[in-house]
Amino acid sequence: MRIHQLGSLRLAQLHDGYGAIDGNRVFYPAKQHEWEAGLAPDPVGFMMNAYQPLLITEGRQHTLVDTGFGEANPNRKGDLREGLAQLRVSAEQIERVIITHAHGDHVGGNTVTRDGTPVPTYPNAEYIVQESEIAAIREANDELWRLRFAPLETAGQLHLVDGEVALSDAVTLWPMAGHTEGQQGVRFSSGGQHAVFVGDLGLSYKNFENPHWGASWAWSREYDEANRRMVAEWAVEHDAIVIMYHDPRTPWIRLDRAGDGYKASPVA
Ligand SMILES: [Zn+2]
Repeated sequence: MRIHQLGSLRLAQLHDGYGAIDGNRVFYPAKQHEWEAGLAPDPVGFMMNAYQPLLITEGRQHTLVDTGFGEANPNRKGDLREGLAQLRVSAEQIERVIITHAHGDHVGGNTVTRDGTPVPTYPNAEYIVQESEIAAIREANDELWRLRFAPLETAGQLHLVDGEVALSDAVTLWPMAGHTEGQQGVRFSSGGQHAVFVGDLGLSYKNFENPHWGASWAWSREYDEANRRMVAEWAVEHDAIVIMYHDPRTPWIRLDRAGDGYKASPVA
């Protein structure tokens, strides 16, 4: 587990398993021969993908960012509950859950099924989501809404926000639409150090090295790239650690400007 003390915050990245993802869609419109170096894709372009929520501890307050694939992932090979147990944090102690965006691999652990009914996994937490993100999926009223969000609303645990919101002196919700309409990241500043959790603004460090390579399924590829550049510029100026959810080998990077994009260096 990756743990970093950032001023008054402890950031711990948990592990909720692996999957495979099509690199040709992650780095659209690049061709496989352009992106594959170092990523070891299979012959048709699928590469390893990880689900890595973040636990923020500030004093005695625990905040989880994204909840993993949860029980929906058949081949988990990782379980964020084990990471929480290692850190001696119980589900009951989580006070806040920040949801970056409403895709199944980020919100699958919002709820667990008990006696056939989905209930909040973190019974004492408020789940914080951007209003614009919820509006889209509430209207769709599909399984994702019914299984992973409606039970939170029923329990009075769904907390909607609109735009940038400071949760404390050190932790700020940072809207970064593009991958979805209401995606938010989380910005950390404490003790003169800085970091940002970017959700799926970048699925791999190569999305930051080449900001015009973005997920083909993004809600808006234009916003996705523009916000990737905006966040990368902030990271360069603040020498910030950029924390990704999916990158299995180098989820924490620092960025320097290079040509039309950036050079990523892994943070140990
Ligand atoms: Zn994702």
